[in-house]
Amino acid sequence: MQLLDGKYLSQQIKQEIAAQVADIRSQGGKIPHLVAILVGNNGASETYVASKMKNCEEVGMKSSLFRFDTSVTETELLDKVRAINNDPDIDGLIVQLPLPDHISADKVMETIHPAKDVDGFHPINIGRMAKGLPAYISATPQGVLEMLSRYNIETAGKHCVVVGRSQIVGLPMSILMQRNTYPGNCTVTLTHSRTKNLAEICRSADILVAALGRPEFITGDMVKEGAVVIDVGLERVPDATKKSGFALKGDVKFDEVSPKAGFITPVPGGVGLMTICSLMQNTLKAAREEIYPKP
Ligand code: NAP
Repeated sequence: MQLLDGKYLSQQIKQEIAAQVADIRSQGGKIPHLVAILVGNNGASETYVASKMKNCEEVGMKSSLFRFDTSVTETELLDKVRAINNDPDIDGLIVQLPLPDHISADKVMETIHPAKDVDGFHPINIGRMAKGLPAYISATPQGVLEMLSRYNIETAGKHCVVVGRSQIVGLPMSILMQRNTYPGNCTVTLTHSRTKNLAEICRSADILVAALGRPEFITGDMVKEGAVVIDVGLERVPDATKKSGFALKGDVKFDEVSPKAGFITPVPGGVGLMTICSLMQNTLKAAREEIYPKP
């Protein structure tokens, strides 16, 4: 079994990004600027956003956080998004999910200008990705692709099973893995909570991507010998032995699955760190107008 080491890879990628930002700076260019919007004070969201901001600073990018109370109205939030769309200093915008029930996440995502949608959630970016056109690709699936590619994992002709069909992880992951490119050219099965014989389908996977948000759901008996196992899951599970009172768990029962797997991502230290790198890579692309001109 080989560990797919997100910590090692993310350090490598961050050095590459930092060198590119330093280059922009030395040429007197505008420093790439990522903005995050956070509504409320959900503990996990706070941690994710803080980590995104910290990583941007580490590579020399500018980052700003706009915070709103949960009482913010949808109209107020959409107005803020429009103001950011029109601010030439801001290259990328992310709105941390989940949002309170009275705010439509779809409306918010559709209001972010596609050229600043570095999370790759706007329907235009999803549609362009599906057609194989240049687009911002959803940060987590893009991080998984980067991981597969940097470890030179063979994907052509393999059976890739994706568990979970969310718009931000499972669905784009399945589209990307079937594309006629590397990493890709897989035969893909996209599964969800209504899937019958899930364990059997998982056992037929050469590449298994678990993105369902059910801690340790994928057990040893659901995995084929030598499979590549990508654990996207990241859940807080109560743990009295930890100072924080919780432990981070993935969707894969690591102790059971790792002895069977050919490659496996740990949690933490796997896909999560790659997601943040993708976000910064997309922000760099946005600053350079590599995909779209500035709005
Ligand atoms: P989500 O929107 O809740 O979607 C979960 C998906 O899993 C749904 O499609 C659901 O099926 C499916 N599912 C749930 N229970 C299932 C079961 N028992 N069997 C088969 N499928 C099942 O979740 P998400 O936003 O994609 O996130 C998934 C996990 O990834 C979470 O733990 C999240 O924290 C983590 N995550 C990590 C990162 C990272 O950077 N590491 C980024 C994003 C998300 P239905 O559609 O039928 O309901």
